[in-house]
Amino acid sequence: MVRVLFIGECMAELAPASTPGSHSLGFAGDTFNTAWYLAQLCSQADVSYFTAVGEDAISGQMLDMMSTSGIGTEHVQVIPGRSVGLYLITLNAGERSFSYWRGQSAARCLARDAAALGAAQSRADIIYFSGITLAILDRQDRATLLDGIGKARRAGKEVVFDPNLRPRLWDSPSDMTEAVMQAAAVSTMILPSFEDETSWFGDADPAATVGRYCQAGADTVVVKNGAADVHYRDSDAHGIIEVEPLSDVVDTTAAGDSFNAALLAGQMAGWSRKFSIETANRLARHVIQGKGALVQIDQSLIDRFA
Ligand code: ADP
Repeated sequence: MVRVLFIGECMAELAPASTPGSHSLGFAGDTFNTAWYLAQLCSQADVSYFTAVGEDAISGQMLDMMSTSGIGTEHVQVIPGRSVGLYLITLNAGERSFSYWRGQSAARCLARDAAALGAAQSRADIIYFSGITLAILDRQDRATLLDGIGKARRAGKEVVFDPNLRPRLWDSPSDMTEAVMQAAAVSTMILPSFEDETSWFGDADPAATVGRYCQAGADTVVVKNGAADVHYRDSDAHGIIEVEPLSDVVDTTAAGDSFNAALLAGQMAGWSRKFSIETANRLARHVIQGKGALVQIDQSLIDRFA
C-alpha cells in the first residue's frame, strides 16, 4: 500500500437541482477531488485527507462522505465554533457562476498544529497539496505548512504540488506567486495548468513553465493545457503528449484534479510517464463530459489500474 496524504479544504457545494429553485448538497474542493478520484481508481493507494472541520452536522456529513468514498479521516482536526466552507453554483443561461462562503472555514486553521501535521506526514509516502491549500492559510500557518513539507521532502517523501493559481484568494498577485515558488522549492512533482501560469508568471509557452519549475527544484513537472498538448519532464524523459480535443464539453470542473489523480495512480501502477499522461487525459476527458466535480468513473478505466 502506498500511503497518500492530501492536505487542503473540502467544501459543501450547493448545486442547482432538477426542480427549479432547489439545490442539492455535495462536497468538493481541488485537493479533495484528486483524493476522491485516486481512491476510486487505485486500490493500492491508502488515501487520507488532512484538513479541519467543525463540530456541526454538516461537518459530520462531510466526514461520512469521505469515509464512504474510501478516504481516511483520521487526520481531520475538529475546530470548535467553526464549520466547513460553502459554495453555491448559480446557472444563468447555461453559464455557471460561483459564490463562496469560506472566509471563516475550519480548514483555514488546518496548519495551526505543527505536531499534528508532522505526525500525519510521517505516516505518508506521498504528500499532495495545492496553491489553494496555501491561499486559505495566514502567513504564519503557511510558513508552518511549508516548513513541515520541506522536512518531509528531505526525509525522502514524494511531495506533489498543483499551483492552482487563484488570485482572488490572495491579498496580492505577488503574495501568490512568491508563496507558489516557495512551495515549488519543497516539491518533487509539480502539476500546473499553463493558462494560469502564463497569466501570473508570464511564461511564453508550456516549455517555459516546465523549465521554471524544474529550476525551482522539482524532479517531475507535467503541464496541463486544456485541449492542447501536455508537456512533461522527469529524470528519465521529457516530451509532449497530444490531447484529443472535445468540442461538447459539459462542465470543466475538476478536469485538472482528476488528471492529477490518474497521473499518480499510473505512477503507483509502475506505468511509463507517457502512458500515465495518456490515461490521465482519458480520465479528464470523461470528467468534463459529466456535471459537477465528482463524476462516476467507467469500470473499464478503473480496471486498468487494478
Ligand atoms: P485545469 O482544470 O487545472 O484548468 P486544464 O483545463 O488544463 O486543467 O485541463 C486538464 C486536462 O483536462 C487536460 O490536460 C486534458 O486532458 C483535459 N481537457 C481539458 N479541456 C479539454 C478539452 N476541451 N478536450 C479534451 N480534453 C480536455
